[in-house]
Amino acid sequence: MQVASIEGSRRVYTLSTAACRTRRYPLKRHPLAAAILATVLGCTAFAVYADDVPAPQNVPYSAGTLKIDVDATDLAHRVFRVHEVVPAAPGPLTLLYPQWIPGNHSPTGPIDKFAGLVVKANGQTLPWKRDEYNVYAFHVDVPQGANAVEVEFQYLSPQDTRQGRVVMTPEMLNLQWNTVSLYPAGYYARQIQADPSVKLPAGWQFGSALDVASQDGDTVHFKPINYDDLVDSPIYAGKYFKRVDLDPGASTPVHMDIVADDPKFLEITPEQLKIHRALIQQMYKLYGAHHYNHYDFLFSLSDKMSGNGLEHHRSSEDGTPTGYFTEWDKSWIMRDLLSHEFNHSWDGKYRRGADLATPSFNVPMGDSLLWVYEGQTQFWGQVMAARSGLWNGDQYHEMIAAVAASYDKGRPGLASWRNVQDTTNDPTIAQRRPLPYRNYQASEDYYSAGEMIWLDVDGKLRELTGNKKSIDDFGKAFFGVNPGAWDVDTYTFEDVVKTLNDIAPYDWASYLRKRLDGHGGLTGGLEAHGWKLVYNDKPSDAIKAAEAFRHTADLTYSLGVSVGKEGAISDVLWDGPAFNAGISPGMTIVAVDGRSYDPDALKSAVTAAKDSSQPIELLVKNFDEYKTVRIDYHGGLKYPHLERDTSKPDTLTQLIKAR
Ligand SMILES: [Zn+2]
Repeated sequence: MQVASIEGSRRVYTLSTAACRTRRYPLKRHPLAAAILATVLGCTAFAVYADDVPAPQNVPYSAGTLKIDVDATDLAHRVFRVHEVVPAAPGPLTLLYPQWIPGNHSPTGPIDKFAGLVVKANGQTLPWKRDEYNVYAFHVDVPQGANAVEVEFQYLSPQDTRQGRVVMTPEMLNLQWNTVSLYPAGYYARQIQADPSVKLPAGWQFGSALDVASQDGDTVHFKPINYDDLVDSPIYAGKYFKRVDLDPGASTPVHMDIVADDPKFLEITPEQLKIHRALIQQMYKLYGAHHYNHYDFLFSLSDKMSGNGLEHHRSSEDGTPTGYFTEWDKSWIMRDLLSHEFNHSWDGKYRRGADLATPSFNVPMGDSLLWVYEGQTQFWGQVMAARSGLWNGDQYHEMIAAVAASYDKGRPGLASWRNVQDTTNDPTIAQRRPLPYRNYQASEDYYSAGEMIWLDVDGKLRELTGNKKSIDDFGKAFFGVNPGAWDVDTYTFEDVVKTLNDIAPYDWASYLRKRLDGHGGLTGGLEAHGWKLVYNDKPSDAIKAAEAFRHTADLTYSLGVSVGKEGAISDVLWDGPAFNAGISPGMTIVAVDGRSYDPDALKSAVTAAKDSSQPIELLVKNFDEYKTVRIDYHGGLKYPHLERDTSKPDTLTQLIKAR
């Protein structure tokens, strides 16, 4: 075996054998591994194809500050226009469009909507070339005599939700800096300084964690900030805007910056305000420290702009349908959104899994600790919804019952072939695309299965300490450290285990690994807190609200099927009664027992079959074929609920009680 040549800085290994040349090994940094692989494959020579992008170094980008000017006024075309000046010395320069997006934990940077790139220096247009193996990287040569390049491009934001999140409407916009900037390769993102500005539609107001330097008409100039924090500081702007003080008189201000489709959706009752203010105080009581100098909930109430829930260090992007405040009783199931995203300022942004804390936005992330990052945030998001009054105790119970049922009977994939740890790969595997058999494939279960694991941990801590210690002690010790610091403090699995051991010595490593790597056994936290999961024929308010919100009929735990609008089947429980009778997602139910489909008819048929030996008969449409499917199911309707186990103390009620 021989290396035929190394082509200068590209470090590309070339070859002579055609069969080996056709394979692409992304092993640029591991030529030895590539050589071994080539030997195994029987190649007499081999090639390592690799990108030509300088790796990030932890040194200041000394050429100067990026000047990023965004024109966000083209609402008609939903186009953001970018003019950027990148100071650079003469010679090769690689510009990157951010690929790995924090909070998405995956390579979702919208490069498919990046267009119109023109690069100039000293008034002359320069040729650019996209890297052969990295479509997010653009190479240019900065000519002699120049000290900067001038870059122009557009971000063509989605025109409808099939293309991605809609972020521009006639009434509002959501600007994320990673979509409207390029940055020089070869440096840690926090070592690059940026000087951003945005031109907004006339008269619009905005919210952001960015500090304003000056305002010139509708153009807002922000104070210079490092590129890492810039990408972490999006903007919500709108025609109808309201800023609400959630911690009056505090030295660290917390605001809610709300944009809405119409001013009428901005009405907030004194009781609603009180509850949102309570959320801030309950968080402070839990953690005892915070990691920002000010915080802004960027909140959209819209049926046009896509919803969102994306965490940042000093802000969060929160988006719900219009009725969050004005249809308060109907909107409750989504009311753990703000508590979830706020919790991320501690869990996820300040404390972050070591493999997730990457130096730039074009280095792959490792998601192995998302069961802490998202799992414990899911746990606290719901507990804090209850502690602050966003939910009452019954609402919390119903939501937990629905989650527990998923891990009791609703995830056959986790009981058979996958485990919770493996689902931490799903941001990269599925990138939230719809899945054919979600319950069997399992996807991002580290959120809710993680929540169940942390409920279990809380029960165990209470058991080990005679109810003197709980997960509140873990929260304070792990996340509530170093008041005021807002860099990133990374942790490993061993750090989690150590903190638990410091509170109550136990074999926490085995305890956690059993739940993360095993198949099932995730609902023990309920029993530990003096409750048990039961099923009866009455849907809870949570199920009813979810059915109304998603326009579904949820018969997961009876017939093993969820049905959407007009009979369209949205999910079929793998190996459940409907599945085994030949039903699959994508079919449409046309009739139930000889009558036109409607959700109540289907539920009545399930109830009637309980006292009958006759199967339930569905007429279904599959492409252009109609067929009758008989489901021999006689178990009646089944919906999950919590029931008190009076043989044990009720520590669940203690957990959700306001502090
Ligand atoms: Zn989250």
